[in-house]
Amino acid sequence: MKKDCLVCTGCHKEYPLDKIFPRCDNCQEPLEIKISLSQRFNKNRKISSESILEHYAAFYPFPWIDNQLSLQEGFTPLVKVDKLARLLEIDNLYLKNETVNPTWSFKDRGTYVGVQHALSSGCNYIGTLSSGNMAASVAAYGARAGLKTIILVSANMPLEKLNPILIYQPILIRVQGDYGQMYYESLKIGQEQGIYFLNSDVPFRVEGSKSIAFEICEQLDYSVPDYVLIPTSSGGNARGILKGFLEFFEGGLIKKLPKIVCIQLAGCAPIYEAWIRNKDRITPIQEPQAIDNAIANPFPPSGNELLRKLRKYEGLITTVTDNEALQGQLMLAQEGIFAQPAAAVSVIALQKLKKEGIISKKSYCVALVTGAGIKYTGILERHKFNVSTGTLPELNKIIRTRLKELPLY
Ligand SMILES: [Zn+2]
Repeated sequence: MKKDCLVCTGCHKEYPLDKIFPRCDNCQEPLEIKISLSQRFNKNRKISSESILEHYAAFYPFPWIDNQLSLQEGFTPLVKVDKLARLLEIDNLYLKNETVNPTWSFKDRGTYVGVQHALSSGCNYIGTLSSGNMAASVAAYGARAGLKTIILVSANMPLEKLNPILIYQPILIRVQGDYGQMYYESLKIGQEQGIYFLNSDVPFRVEGSKSIAFEICEQLDYSVPDYVLIPTSSGGNARGILKGFLEFFEGGLIKKLPKIVCIQLAGCAPIYEAWIRNKDRITPIQEPQAIDNAIANPFPPSGNELLRKLRKYEGLITTVTDNEALQGQLMLAQEGIFAQPAAAVSVIALQKLKKEGIISKKSYCVALVTGAGIKYTGILERHKFNVSTGTLPELNKIIRTRLKELPLY
């Protein structure tokens, strides 16, 4: 009988599931979990108040699940957006709205799964290295689990972004130095001091992202979109989502795979740069210039593996500019969704790929909205919103004038 194990995404060497260090001893590429699908998933079981680990237990290697760790992450809405679809000239467009997770981003899925593994491995300390969303997520779940939590951030992170992490009272350290090197250094310290660092491409984090794919399939009644568009930074989320579709496909639950479209910001697009130059390995970006750190990892640890997977499964990767990301933020807001700029790049990429004739009008598209704008309000000044000011006698006239303005979208 085949057993669940960890397997290297580069050289395919196998490791036991309790290996905490997330990379291969042989080739240093990230590991991933190989599941032997022995249990069957019941298609007729409706999404309920179960946690993602209970609902999709057949796809996770846990003999038992501690439900007290869950904050009801996942099972996010798949919102049909006809107004935006008309604007982009796409017949069928859905947004997978990850902004409604407990700490307002998709990261909570991977944190929940990772904390389960940390506790089942006997770790009493967890940690992460993050530019914002993951830090808040790990700090929140660490607090809930009663674990001491170490959060490492870049020294230049603004206070506006620190406070939504500090509210959970983790041990937060602003680190001066290269962000790419911090990833490897934190893993080394974690090994020495018994801290389970839930960094971006830790296998059990990536497993959390699988549930996004599972949910999309369930929400579309097991039809599969033609394209799934994913804002991409470290690459772990896109890897997890593709893995989810592959596992449903291998389990006979869906009949095809979607094309995965990864999107990076033009000022920090190391995976895209390697892709267009037909390279196998990522070269770090020396001076990233990007509006939103959440999508600007200059040396993405899952980059090489994502390149391999995108080529194998005929995915795509593209970039959008900072100003386009801000424009995407306004477009999503007109559908009632307040995304951070990093999360709004999916719809802009869709617009570009449609204009280039790569995505056709008849395509079924799901654009992932990865995180909420509420945690990053400083950037909103760039929009220069029009606010009227007036006295009570002027009010009638002001309203009459403003009602004549044309809608933005
Ligand atoms: Zn290897």
